[in-house]
Amino acid sequence: MDISEQKLIIAIDGHSSCGKSTVAKDLAKKINYTYIDSGAMYRVITLFAMRNKLIENDKVDENKLAHLIDQVSISFKFNKELQRHETFMNGDLVEDEIRTLKVSNNVSLIATIKFVRDKMVALQRELSKAGGVIMDGRDIGTVVFPNAELKIFMTADVEVRAIRRYKELKEKGENISLDDIRENVKKRDYIDENRDESPLRKAKDAIILNNSNLTPAEQLDWIVERMNEVK
Ligand code: C5P
Repeated sequence: MDISEQKLIIAIDGHSSCGKSTVAKDLAKKINYTYIDSGAMYRVITLFAMRNKLIENDKVDENKLAHLIDQVSISFKFNKELQRHETFMNGDLVEDEIRTLKVSNNVSLIATIKFVRDKMVALQRELSKAGGVIMDGRDIGTVVFPNAELKIFMTADVEVRAIRRYKELKEKGENISLDDIRENVKKRDYIDENRDESPLRKAKDAIILNNSNLTPAEQLDWIVERMNEVK
């Protein structure tokens, strides 16, 4: 049977800013699967916490967040005109705001909180019920879908990742320095790998993709080859 008819779950985990979402989106388009950005969900909760002044000096007011979190609804739509996936918080478009460095600097803190993770994982499973999904994140192959048919663990050198993210944010008009971005990438790696709740780990059956020296087209070809090996 053709892979697009099999409705598989493909999990792409890995370090921050190594191009997981780029390859996940390209692949979803190529094989007509649904792309789900799990990181965007943690970013929305972070934006919500920031707007409600629940984060101060690297500390989150977890009690207040626990009371308020059910007020947040997260949804995604594909914008055909702009050809991009967009994220909504309670119906409002927040796609650009959740990608700013301010949100990136706080998101790993929010992602360490168990009740936040439980809620996001439930939503990720709900959105994937029909199968035919490519989801990227940190715990997709280990926690969310331990039985995913294909698991990829992506990484790239810190400097390569920082430069890529720097160019991306500069193009969007953010006034940031490469040093700040590098620090953010390193800090997020550290928190993601060392937290108690669902730390970033390579699943035993995940295949490693280090894309430091690959173009987006080359890494897409690489994943398509791995996919064709899935029976
Ligand atoms: O993928 P992205 O960089 O947008 O994710 C933002 C943050 O959300 C990550 O730095 C990580 O702390 C957290 N995250 C997570 N689990 C996921 C996806 C993202 O903890 N499945």
